[in-house]
Amino acid sequence: MGLNKKSVDDINVKGQKVLVRCDFNVPLQDGKITDENRLVAALPTIKKLIADGGKIILCSHLGKPKGEPKPELSLAPVAKRLTELLGQEVKFVPSPVVVDDTVKAAVDAMKDGEVILLENTRYRAEETKNGDEFSKDLASLCDVFVNDAFGTAHRAHCSNVGVTKYVDTAVVGYLMEKEIAFLGNAVENPERPFVAILGGAKVSSKISVINNLLDKVDTLIIGGGMSYTFSKALGGHIGNSLCEDDYLQYALDMLKKAEEKGVKLLLPVDNRIGDDFSNDCNIQVVKRGCIPDGWEGMDIGPETEKIFSDAVKDAKTVVWNGPMGCFEMPNFAHGTEEVAKALAETDATTIIGGGDSAAAVNILGYGDKMTHISTGGGASLEFLEGKELPGVAAANDK
Ligand code: AMP
Repeated sequence: MGLNKKSVDDINVKGQKVLVRCDFNVPLQDGKITDENRLVAALPTIKKLIADGGKIILCSHLGKPKGEPKPELSLAPVAKRLTELLGQEVKFVPSPVVVDDTVKAAVDAMKDGEVILLENTRYRAEETKNGDEFSKDLASLCDVFVNDAFGTAHRAHCSNVGVTKYVDTAVVGYLMEKEIAFLGNAVENPERPFVAILGGAKVSSKISVINNLLDKVDTLIIGGGMSYTFSKALGGHIGNSLCEDDYLQYALDMLKKAEEKGVKLLLPVDNRIGDDFSNDCNIQVVKRGCIPDGWEGMDIGPETEKIFSDAVKDAKTVVWNGPMGCFEMPNFAHGTEEVAKALAETDATTIIGGGDSAAAVNILGYGDKMTHISTGGGASLEFLEGKELPGVAAANDK
């Protein structure tokens, strides 16, 4: 799927004030950034705009301050780290309301090629409601708007959608282009066999993804907490495992759809189960659908690991979203680790759909073995659902 939107390559911003919506929503621990992938991913666009000679005003949200200033969610550490990464000062211009007269004065005083960073956009309550006032405030700072925040592209907020109502030129950045090129190509024009691996907690959050992917893939692998709803629908005993009883029929419908479409749908054949939802519980391995009362499915089992890994071996394109078990607990991380390893070893184009799977791949040190790791969990999922992302739609057409 080609992206029919104007990008930073279609403009030159010399002497212009450019507001760039980035995704600097990075994990922080005691004020320190623990994963800077999103900062690094934002650099190409920022460097291009600096090279043009624009006045670059960066903005982003961080966490969920719920519409008021929360010092622990200030973007100050991001300004500091970006300064180091860019090798050029990124001046932090904080305001409790993000945009005020001091901020406007700082922008007016900018020289070509300079970079400033605004405070967390979610300090303003209107941000997540796409309200007009904050959208206008943001637009008042700039001549041109660039959206490079893939991680929030599935949301319509002031800083990625509302603001475009009040700025004539709104384009996407390189990260946005890259994310859409990889995810889009994988889904619309995959080299086959095309295998998708879905995991995570709930069927309900991935209904449309399963449905949409069944029209595209050769093999669909379902692991993680969501697989127990399928297991129960097939008449299995699942003990205390995660299950959404409202989706039993849906699970059966999807199994039928897979059969009609000739898609191989792989479910776990065995599970690691525990007698308590904790790392130190008693553990055993049982066949799918044979989980005794008082026990719950916490991970895929060894036989399943082998089947899933084999399915990936011969694939040419693999998309993965969601862990195979409760991977935060070391005793139940094995299934997720084996899938990550299989992806690292295959020659296929491998695309990791953000969130937990991206974290797992990076923690295991397989990050550089993947073709593309998306910076947006929710956004990549909605993309896989075949939905138009509002943050992308808002940019000017080519
Ligand atoms: P999601 O946000 O839907 O991708 O779900 C991710 C979460 O699913 C992770 O926190 C996992 O611990 C959890 N998860 C995966 N498998 C299971 C399981 N068998 N039982 C409970 N939670 C699970």
